[in-house]
Amino acid sequence: MTEAVNGEIGVAVLGLGNVGSQVVRIIEESATDLAARVGAPLRVRGIGVRRVGADRGVPAELLTDNIEELVSRADVDIVVELMGPVEPARKAILAALEQGKSVITANKALLAVSAGELAQAAEHAHVDLYFEAAVAGAIPVIRPLTQSLAGDTVLRVAGIVNGTTNYILSEMDSTGADYASALADASALGYAEADPTADVEGHDAAAKAAILASIAFHTRVSADDVYCEGITKVSPTDFVSARALGCTIKLLAICERLTGADGQQRVSARVYPALVPLDHPLAAVNGAFNAVVVEAEAAGRLMFYGQGAGGSPTASAVMGDLVMAARNRVQGGRGPRESKYAKLPVAPIGDISTRYYVNMNVADRPGVLSAVAAEFAKHEVSIAEVRQEGMVDEGGQRCGARIVVVTHRATDAALSETVAALAGLEVVQSINSVLRMEGTTE
Ligand code: NAP
Repeated sequence: MTEAVNGEIGVAVLGLGNVGSQVVRIIEESATDLAARVGAPLRVRGIGVRRVGADRGVPAELLTDNIEELVSRADVDIVVELMGPVEPARKAILAALEQGKSVITANKALLAVSAGELAQAAEHAHVDLYFEAAVAGAIPVIRPLTQSLAGDTVLRVAGIVNGTTNYILSEMDSTGADYASALADASALGYAEADPTADVEGHDAAAKAAILASIAFHTRVSADDVYCEGITKVSPTDFVSARALGCTIKLLAICERLTGADGQQRVSARVYPALVPLDHPLAAVNGAFNAVVVEAEAAGRLMFYGQGAGGSPTASAVMGDLVMAARNRVQGGRGPRESKYAKLPVAPIGDISTRYYVNMNVADRPGVLSAVAAEFAKHEVSIAEVRQEGMVDEGGQRCGARIVVVTHRATDAALSETVAALAGLEVVQSINSVLRMEGTTE
């Protein structure tokens, strides 16, 4: 561990973008309060960027594009990594940890693939590695899971952890817009990035699910372990059907502890759009907001809600970590280390049991419903509800029917086999969508 120089805690901030600029601002504007809370002043020693020459609103002498040199400085005690994506952030963080600096990062993409490697480096150097801002922006969820619930058994963590997709789905629900125009709105308002792939395909939420599952279940879960479906195929028709069923549609990240009949435990981490009943707390989370519901054996259900992104909210979470790490430097000691003792296996998606909504177009003639129902029965998927609507073509002629089937709980494997068999039936014209249903009591 490095020694504080001049009784100050030296901080290197890597990145001066949305989040980094807010962190630097708060360190400057709240210097007196922060010094009192930490027990020593926080001093920004340097700021790593790509474009050093531009007028960046900070003293020019602090800016550098030499990240390697900045994290190696003897007067830097804590490195705050806010550059993203995986590289060069990984290299910079490892270099910092190896040289005894504590590290704060908001980089979920990096943590989802390299958390173990980074935790090991922090362990080896006896320093802190904190990442509250990597999941759900300003919302405290990492610290409650690692500290407040350290004595409880977490059963489930389910949440809306991606503001872009939540904005798009909320728009589709409230205006009837299709996916493409809701995405265009999100981009125009700055809620979606120029390349929205990581958000709309669910990869960003999957990275966060990996982080949440790892800490909730004391097991290393990486992004590759997370089953992931995005929102690009969700249609206005799905929202109409969802409303008729008393539901809305949300992109959920779900981390679950599964206990088999033999008592063996496994974990599941998955991301997909799902029907959620309108009276479920997550159904009321709209726009770019995030929420995480944690269920623990003794605590019961806890809900965390707030701004899941944005420079200032995310900087709040980073600052909380920075004060903790700085206090540890002043007082001695370290925060919680990585806890991976449980080493639970990850269950494949085929073993996961949920309810389903299947929307299909069928021929409009007698016997169709019983043929469809027979396929569900053959694969032991029990039907809870069926709705049928006649469809008319542009000339007003009847041209088939749309059937919506809602099932009781079934495994993903059984449902997939059912859908494959339905697609092969002569009376089924198209399977329009298959979505899971979460948050119901049945
Ligand atoms: P951003 O606005 O794109 O800023 C990135 C900053 O990093 C820029 O200042 C950039 O320098 C610098 N940078 C990038 N690559 C660099 C390199 N190779 N060498 C030196 N500097 C480099 O990003 P952000 O939105 O602040 O996000 C930062 C991190 O926080 C990411 O890991 C992100 O996933 C995470 N995060 C963001 C949010 C959010 O709401 N924005 C929420 C949660 C987590 P220049 O300015 O010179 O280009």
